[in-house]
Amino acid sequence: MPVRPTPPTRVLLWRGATRACPVCGRRGLTRRWVALADTCPRCGFEFERKPGHFVGAVGINTIVVFGLILISIVVGVILMWPRPEAVPLLAAALPIAIVLPWAFHPTAKTLWIAIDLGMKPLEAGEARGGPEERAAQQR
Ligand SMILES: [Zn+2]
Repeated sequence: MPVRPTPPTRVLLWRGATRACPVCGRRGLTRRWVALADTCPRCGFEFERKPGHFVGAVGINTIVVFGLILISIVVGVILMWPRPEAVPLLAAALPIAIVLPWAFHPTAKTLWIAIDLGMKPLEAGEARGGPEERAAQQR
């Protein structure tokens, strides 16, 4: 089984950050925004490479959500200085804390897949459609 070449790191990260398949760049991988498909319809890459693979995506999601909550609180305190009030700060932070973990979840997954592929390149049979496989099909 031919090995499809892993794209360069900058391509992997761009595709992952824009919710595309890091291997082939295919978009539209989610159902109802939050549910990522199990495999890429174009290249057949199975997104969960091993059980527990998406723990890294949960970590990315947590870092982004907590980072944005922190930024909203810091900006709110700066804008209300010298008398910051808790209610407006919470009113700004609460929607971020409730909506963003769900909305960002598929992006965190594709981004984690890209990071993982950067550390552990594609192996034989993980994705179809590489140049060797296309050449073999044309013969
Ligand atoms: Zn793909």
